[in-house]
Amino acid sequence: MARILITSALPYINGIKHLGNLVGSQLPADLYARYMRARGHEVMFICATDEHGTPAEIAAAKAGKPVDEYCAEMHEVQAGLARGFAMSFDHFGRSSSQRNHVLTQHMAKTLGEAGLISEVSEEQVYSVADGRFLPDRYIEGTCPNCGYERARGDQCENCTKQLDPTDLINPRSAISGSTDLEVRETKHLFLRQSTLRDTLDEWIDSQTGWPVLTTSIAKKWLHDGDGLQDRGITRDLHWGVPAQFEGAPWSGMEGKVFYVWFDAPIEYIAATAEWADAQGLDDSAWERWWRTDKGADDVRYVEFMGKDNVPFHTLSFPATLIGSGEPWKLVDYIKSFNYLNYDGGQFSTSQGRGVFMDQALTILPADYWRWWLLSHAPESSDSEFTWENFQASVNKDLADVLGNLVSRVTKFCRSKFGEVVPGGGAWGPGEAALIAALSTRIRAYEGHMEAMEVRKSAGELRAIWVLGNEYLQEAAPWSTFKTDPEQAAAQIRLALNLIRLYAVLSQPFIPEAAARMMASMHCEDWSWPGDIGAALALLPEGHGFEVPEVLFAKITDEERADYAARFSGVRD
Ligand SMILES: [Zn+2]
Repeated sequence: MARILITSALPYINGIKHLGNLVGSQLPADLYARYMRARGHEVMFICATDEHGTPAEIAAAKAGKPVDEYCAEMHEVQAGLARGFAMSFDHFGRSSSQRNHVLTQHMAKTLGEAGLISEVSEEQVYSVADGRFLPDRYIEGTCPNCGYERARGDQCENCTKQLDPTDLINPRSAISGSTDLEVRETKHLFLRQSTLRDTLDEWIDSQTGWPVLTTSIAKKWLHDGDGLQDRGITRDLHWGVPAQFEGAPWSGMEGKVFYVWFDAPIEYIAATAEWADAQGLDDSAWERWWRTDKGADDVRYVEFMGKDNVPFHTLSFPATLIGSGEPWKLVDYIKSFNYLNYDGGQFSTSQGRGVFMDQALTILPADYWRWWLLSHAPESSDSEFTWENFQASVNKDLADVLGNLVSRVTKFCRSKFGEVVPGGGAWGPGEAALIAALSTRIRAYEGHMEAMEVRKSAGELRAIWVLGNEYLQEAAPWSTFKTDPEQAAAQIRLALNLIRLYAVLSQPFIPEAAARMMASMHCEDWSWPGDIGAALALLPEGHGFEVPEVLFAKITDEERADYAARFSGVRD
């Protein structure tokens, strides 16, 4: 039995995530966590809301709420949606937790004492009316290049020219619209990442199993241009982890907090500590996952994220952990994803374009979405959601192949033999051929799941379902029954066992349907199949079952057209 630590990139707190966000980290991480648990491994699966930073403060102000109250409410909303999509997190934490405050300050202090933090004075734009320094993208004005009147302080989105806030003509605050702006000097802490470049380079070179995409992104950031840059890790904000604290190796940082990119990944660790607290366990319970001097030596740590998050996870977060000089567990494998597009364009949170997690659950059960998203995961390239494709996939794979098999077998058995596994008859060459074919495909499925090849795994699972349908088509117990009821009984006994086996194999993808399949077989044996012949003889003669309600309802053309129309614009 192995010990596997799994983290999903943290969803930001300001609003509900769309399906593209879901398939970019949480959902495939859940697939892997469920599979590894099903194989008997010890799994710690961690996620959390990422709650600090200017966007959270602004979203709270818009909602007319104090930021802590806003974040607490939005955390509950996101936690509820995660439950709705059957995310099997061991803990869904909050980056604003006390645990993260303590750990973030500890990391900063350790880095400071190791000489890896410098103090830098900068000039920044201060809004007198807003009473705050403004991040570049919260300053608006007229572009000096093209005259566009709503250019941001970091870039003009009309002509794409990179800007400095001081380049803007008639600059104003994007928060209040105030033009009462002045340039003030402010001091910040910088993490001296550049001094860790060789160490990070060696560490990345030692990661032989990483995907090429991950390694090449990391190497580009390490070496391109002037190489890895030092980064500011503090901001002039109120909401966050205070940068001035007791025992800090610097002074004069009152009123500043650590920047969100510094404290968010530390929350992976802090959330595991939150988990231990929630379980009433002491520190050794979480330290055995994260401290190589306290039991984490044999842990395999896998991170899931969208490709835009790769630089943080290959460089910045490891720089924090390695730079601390303490024996923290570093990532072993990074699984990153491209983007999911929506019906000819992009999913967009800011524009409200696409299908969002809350909306999805109001129209169809989570398993429908899980299956489509995972079987179309944007792994090697971007992929696209269309309603036609979604309808076809749900109707064919789930309703026609899997749902139909379950329904036909249970209903036929009930009508001819009653709601018990029938006795009599024996397996012949047809059953032997099925077992051989299943064995080959199930071993391939295991290989793909192990390797986190999400689409290949889905394809193999679908092929496993198809084998069962082909067997039934060939064996045709409804015909056999007329001439040889004993033989039909043997075929149906196998087919009922196939339903249980499919529940076990399908559970990582479609947990709710799998639970219903298992319950309809009056069984709680979720053990992973070793010998397939033995797995198909597990439910014995005389074992009771019941015909389940329809597992998957087909999506009609009318419904599809209705959904496409409802989600063609932007959300309110
Ligand atoms: Zn411009």
